Amino acid sequence: MKVLVINCGSSSLKYQLINMENENVLAKGLVERIGIEGSILTQKVNDEKYVIEQPMKDHKVAIKLVLDALIDKEHGVISDMSEISAVGHRVVHGGEKYAGSVLIDENVMEALQECVKLAPLHNPPNIIGINACRELMPSTPMVGVFDTAFHQTLPEEAFIYALPYELYTQYGIRKYGFHGTSHRFVSMTAAQMMGKNIEDLKIITCHLGNGASLSAVKGGKSVDTTMGFTPLAGVAMGTRCGDIDPAIVPFLVKETGMSIEEVDNLMNKKSGVLGVSGVSSDFRDIENAAKDGNKRAELALDVFHYRVRTSIGAYAAALNGVDCIVFTAGLGENSITSRAEICDGLQYLGVNIDADKNNVRGKATEISTADSKVKVFVIPTDEELMIARDTKEIVESAK
Ligand code: ADP
Repeated sequence: MKVLVINCGSSSLKYQLINMENENVLAKGLVERIGIEGSILTQKVNDEKYVIEQPMKDHKVAIKLVLDALIDKEHGVISDMSEISAVGHRVVHGGEKYAGSVLIDENVMEALQECVKLAPLHNPPNIIGINACRELMPSTPMVGVFDTAFHQTLPEEAFIYALPYELYTQYGIRKYGFHGTSHRFVSMTAAQMMGKNIEDLKIITCHLGNGASLSAVKGGKSVDTTMGFTPLAGVAMGTRCGDIDPAIVPFLVKETGMSIEEVDNLMNKKSGVLGVSGVSSDFRDIENAAKDGNKRAELALDVFHYRVRTSIGAYAAALNGVDCIVFTAGLGENSITSRAEICDGLQYLGVNIDADKNNVRGKATEISTADSKVKVFVIPTDEELMIARDTKEIVESAK
């Protein structure tokens, strides 16, 4: 079975065609600048690159070109569209309705539309992508895989905010959490690497990329996560502030005359390690600036590491212990110094990193010492594979 995985953003689209017999990626690609000048599709098959530059006025045109690229005689990997057995779509927000992935039908499309108010930036392009695919491949089953679904197992005490309860019942204001597909994938992989049943494990997963979140996973279920009602909450990120005193918002509006939208933009786009360092939102730039003696770059890294470390401490409490910590995503997979700094201070928990083993980038491996009570792993995340696995399972069981 071959599964096409689609991740649609507002002006971009990522895709992978995966052969589920062996989970090999047959082709992967990126379409950028959809609906704006300079649209471009780049497909990779092994090391060969195939580029199409032509106007793409909308996502339907883009997806049609993706299908053309996949069946292209010279650069493609399949001979006919009918070889694609199913399509798996990444969807950001499934609200409280979806605690797992789902076969897409009209009812699901309606529910997704209802979730738009919860994710006004992310769900609309996801919906546009699904509609375009359904038009182009009307007889191919489609599955929606939600970023929020994995965290639907949070207990009430973890997801209810200490606000008037009616705000939850009337407006759905609660912690939802995001990056669920990644947290699920790396926690399952960690259990496999430990040779243990995930039911018996307490795992803390740290997805540290431009957006960053941690999850406390007990027996394979998320019991807490740092992102909240939106992906703005939790640890400091590339450009997002993470948790701050909410009273800062009205204070800023009053003192600076900024509008609510401007404050929102400031917290989402100008804060995090970019805001503190004044250098960049990219951790590599900040690490380099810190090495050159830039004090604010050093401070930004300290703030970030401190937040992640103390969140791990909090989740050790939520789980009443921890068997394993996982680092994943751009920074988690690649930054040797960040992993070392975050773990330095967790020795009381029984976390000990082996400096030689930690000298690794982008490879699934254990980095804790042989006698470390808590195992620490680096595990490259693979949200596309997780989406493809769910898609295969759901389509097969629906037959
Ligand atoms: P997202 O998918 O959220 O956009 P990624 O998971 O790709 O983000 O992570 C991007 C972040 O990872 C960037 O801040 C980047 O600097 C960081 N990163 C990638 N490689 C390295 C590296 N070798 N050392 C330090 N940071 C890295």
